[in-house]
Amino acid sequence: MGPVRAILLGKLDVKTLEDLLYFLPFRYEDRTEIKKIGALIPDKEQTVAGEIISVDLMETRRIRIVKAVIRDETGTLQAKWFNQPYLKQALQKGDQIMLSGKARINFYQGGHLAMESPQYEKVDGEEPKLHLGRIVPIYHETKGLTSRQIRSIMHGLLNQYGSSIPENLPSSLIQKFSFLPLSQAISELHFPSPNAPLTLLQSGKTLMHQRLAFDELYLMEMGLAYRKKQAATEALGTAFKINSKRVERLLGYIPFQLTSAQKRVFSEISDDMAKPFPMHRLIQGDVGCGKTIVAFMAILIAIDNETQAALMAPTEILAEQHFLRLKEYGDPLGLSILLLTSDMKKKEKADAIDRIAIGEVNLVIGTHALIQEAISFKKLGLVVVDEQHKFGVLQRAKLSQKGERPDILIMTATPIPRTLALTLYGDLNLSVINEIPAGRSPIKTQVFHEKERAHAYQLLERELCAGRQAYIVCPLVEASEAVDLKAAKDFSGHLQSDLLSHRRVGLLHGRLKREDKEKIMMAFRDGELDLLVATTVIEVGIDLPNATVMIIEHAERFGLAQLHQLRGRVGRGAKQSYCFLMAGYPQSQEARTRLQVMQRSTDGFVIAEEDLALRGPGAFFGTQQSGLPELRVANLVRDGALLEPARKEAFQWIEQDPALSRSESLSIRSALERKWKGKIEWLAVG
Ligand code: ADP
Ligand code: MG
Repeated sequence: MGPVRAILLGKLDVKTLEDLLYFLPFRYEDRTEIKKIGALIPDKEQTVAGEIISVDLMETRRIRIVKAVIRDETGTLQAKWFNQPYLKQALQKGDQIMLSGKARINFYQGGHLAMESPQYEKVDGEEPKLHLGRIVPIYHETKGLTSRQIRSIMHGLLNQYGSSIPENLPSSLIQKFSFLPLSQAISELHFPSPNAPLTLLQSGKTLMHQRLAFDELYLMEMGLAYRKKQAATEALGTAFKINSKRVERLLGYIPFQLTSAQKRVFSEISDDMAKPFPMHRLIQGDVGCGKTIVAFMAILIAIDNETQAALMAPTEILAEQHFLRLKEYGDPLGLSILLLTSDMKKKEKADAIDRIAIGEVNLVIGTHALIQEAISFKKLGLVVVDEQHKFGVLQRAKLSQKGERPDILIMTATPIPRTLALTLYGDLNLSVINEIPAGRSPIKTQVFHEKERAHAYQLLERELCAGRQAYIVCPLVEASEAVDLKAAKDFSGHLQSDLLSHRRVGLLHGRLKREDKEKIMMAFRDGELDLLVATTVIEVGIDLPNATVMIIEHAERFGLAQLHQLRGRVGRGAKQSYCFLMAGYPQSQEARTRLQVMQRSTDGFVIAEEDLALRGPGAFFGTQQSGLPELRVANLVRDGALLEPARKEAFQWIEQDPALSRSESLSIRSALERKWKGKIEWLAVG
């Protein structure tokens, strides 16, 4: 291939021969059926074949038109192409040709049928038909490289290499699932056979697609399995004794019983902690399911074993919350718990760092400040990361490097669907708290439009009169002239002066000083405020059972995951809670759907599935950040059903051949190296 084409293909992200083979058509056109000219139906895509009886080039000052007339035994048809004068040479009287396009009736020229800019293909007997007379692949184009040209390139490529594409999968697996050979799958996706099912082709659901998607998912899971296996065998961590006196005592004085899901997850964690390998476990559970107490029990095990623990939260407010709550839980146990924040005074901070270094502090809580270089632990045994989705993989790794292979426990309320969880956290073990503490009733959710605001406030008033508290969340801190958002500042002023003037209103946002934030949070917690107007800083973690109303302004601007998180700030006790979604305009169709989904369901998993369906997996999580290889064919929504078997097979294979050093694993290994370029550290194979 010439350098120009190579550069153009590069623009389409096609850099290697393999890239090119996997550069699949994004749609297909059925040009198999050849119509008689006399039977053409106007305005419908159709293909005809015939002999060229004339070709003319018409030039005006502005435009050059090539006109050809073709004939079959039933009639004649005119074809016109604009500004492609070379066609005058390319098409010759007497040529056999096929045309594909929409025929229109030309009323100005006696009602003749004509096609404008049809696809054309000369038929010279020998050559296989590439562009017409078949199901034709349509590729993404770039300036200078048309779909038609790519089709020709692809055809040449497949002629040369099509039958020798090496398999990635072991043959036992291909047999087990009766998969098509890889080379057949790839060739037929580019040039489907005439009887291929068109709808399945268009929707990416043919056996060929599935073969390729399975390969990709298998290789992705294999990489994860490999990584996980290395982590579990290569490096020793701490084997904790898990009979913790402190856990027993804690369970004696907390004001509730653990749910059975909490108990199960805690025992999964304890089992991991007892093992000599470092734990890598994710606790997934919907907002309010009670992850914190479970994490705290794990922390107590670490402390009982004479090690320190660290808890990392995504925001200062949340770190603060954890600190207050865990101090309450931990004080009777005589623990030293420290809150580390980025705005501590120098002296105060130096002091804290010393106390951590000499091991005087049992548990450190903080934001990403915790991963600052200066902080070191005497012996860090356990790292807990709350709300993982806010942290990158790298931050997680950095924190754990502060100890010698500490156990790692990650908590997330992002109720990602199982398929995604398996992938995104594929090298972690997954524990799901799939139970909400008893006695809570689902939050009642209702959408209000601006003209119904008074009604929403009536309902709010009713709750406030009953002694409850409420949050009002606004998208921005300060109104800018450009956007008509109900900024929290203006809004709280507005509420106080007008609508709810008799109510005590507090304002909480990210730009406040820490002392002020703290003061406001305390005042709200202690019932000195009725209403807390806030930006999304309260999105995660805030936990006050007496707050039963969540009003979200401009709810149409929030994504489903965020709406669900925000709503999760209420409904945290036995009292009936409410969420009012104040919908402004304009609303996209998608925004309307989101609001409906919120109204319909309070189940985080249902909402996550809807979110995934609405936004697609690409938007749902960036593979860039997740450190996973890119998926070219597989789509986690469409091919979700393939993920579990792919994962199962990959993990089983790794059990048999952990270093991928057997001869049957060679093809997998080389495919993995290409797919995971630089994202996996390979062990030297001896
Ligand atoms: P999340 O999983 O969203 O982080 P939290 O850990 O903040 O949830 O717990 C939410 C609330 O539920 C807290 O007030 C906590 O004390 C309470 N809680 C936790 N476990 C139980 C339980 N088993 N029964 C009743 N309340 C519980
Ligand atoms: Mg939480």
